[in-house]
Amino acid sequence: MDIFGAQVLVLGWLLLIGGGVLLVVSATLVYRRSKQIAEQTKRINARLQELLRESHESGKILVRKDRELTLANQTLVERTHDLEEAGKLLVRRDLELTQSNERLRDLDAIKSQFVSVAAHQLRTPLAGIKWTLYALLEERTGKLNAEQKTFAGDAYKATLRLIELVNDLLDASRLEEGRFGFKTQKQDFLPVVQSTYEKFEKSAKEKGVTFSFVAPKEPLPTLTIDKEKITIALENMVDNALKYTPPGGRVTIRLFKEKNQVICDVADTGIGMPKDQTSKIFTKFFRAENAQLSQTSGTGLGLYLAKNIIEHHGGAIFFTTKENQGSTFTFTLPIPVKT
Ligand code: ADP
Repeated sequence: MDIFGAQVLVLGWLLLIGGGVLLVVSATLVYRRSKQIAEQTKRINARLQELLRESHESGKILVRKDRELTLANQTLVERTHDLEEAGKLLVRRDLELTQSNERLRDLDAIKSQFVSVAAHQLRTPLAGIKWTLYALLEERTGKLNAEQKTFAGDAYKATLRLIELVNDLLDASRLEEGRFGFKTQKQDFLPVVQSTYEKFEKSAKEKGVTFSFVAPKEPLPTLTIDKEKITIALENMVDNALKYTPPGGRVTIRLFKEKNQVICDVADTGIGMPKDQTSKIFTKFFRAENAQLSQTSGTGLGLYLAKNIIEHHGGAIFFTTKENQGSTFTFTLPIPVKT
C-alpha cells in the first residue's frame, strides 16, 4: 500500500472514530433531553391530575351549592306566598276592625246622646228637690225639730252630690259631642283660684282637714281662659283632695308662675293611689279600689273632664301619688305671648 492509500485509510479511521464520537455525544444529548422532557411530561401530567381532581371537587361543591340554592329558592317562593296570604289576612282584619270601630263610634255617640238626655231630664226635678229641702232647712214652712233638721240636712247634701254627678255626666257627654262651648277671655287667674278656695273652706273645716292657699308672691300675668270651665277642673281637683283626705289631714293649693306658664297644684295628705292603678286615672269612669272603699260616691268623670279642659287651654295636667301618704295634682296654663 502506498502512502496515499495509508493516509486515506487513516483519514477514514479518523472520520469513522469522529463520526462515532459525534454519534455517541449526540445520542447522549438526545437521551438527556428526552429524559428531561419525560420528567417534565410526568410533572405536567401529575399537575394535570391534581387540577382534574380539584376541578372534580369544585364541580361537586358547585352541584351541592346549586342544590342548596334551588332549595333556598323554593323556601323563598313558599315564604313569599305565606307573606302574601298574611298580607291578605291583614287587609281583611283591617277592614273588619275599621267596621267594628265605626260601629263602636256610632254606639258611643248613641250612648252619649242617651246620657245627655237622661242627665238633662234629671236636672230640673233635682233642682226642685234641692230648693224644697233648702226651704225646709230654712224653716220657711215651720220649725223643725233636731231629728227633722238632720234628715233634711242629709237629704240636702245628698241632693247636692247628685246634682254634681248629673252635671259631670252632662259635661262629659257635651265634651264628647263637641258641644262643651269653650268661651275664652283674657283675665286674672288669681280670683278664680281664690273663689274656689273660699267655696271649699267651710266643708274642709267641717271635715277637720287643714286647708290652705299659698298665693303667688308676685302678680300673675293675665291668662286667656274660660273661667267657668277652668273652675270645673280646679273644683274637681280640690273636691277630690278633700274627699280622699281623712280628718286630721292637710290640703294645700299653691299658685305660682314659672317661666312662661302659671302653675297650680293641689296637694293632700290623703289615701293616695295604688301604684298599679295610676295609669288609668284620667280615663272615663275610672275609680281606684281604695277610693271606692273610702268614698262610695263618685263618677270617675272629674279628672277626665279636668284633663280635657286643661289641655283645651294648651296646658298640661299631671300628678304624683303614694298610697296612704297623699297626692299632688298639678296643672299648668300657658302665659300668652305679648304681641
Ligand atoms: P271621682 O268622682 O271618683 O272622684 P275623679 O275622676 O275625680 O272621680 O277621680 C278618679 C279617681 O282618681 C278617683 O276615684 C280616685 O281613685 C283617684 N283620685 C283622684 N284624686 C285623688 C286624690 N286626691 N287622692 C287619691 N285618689 C284620687
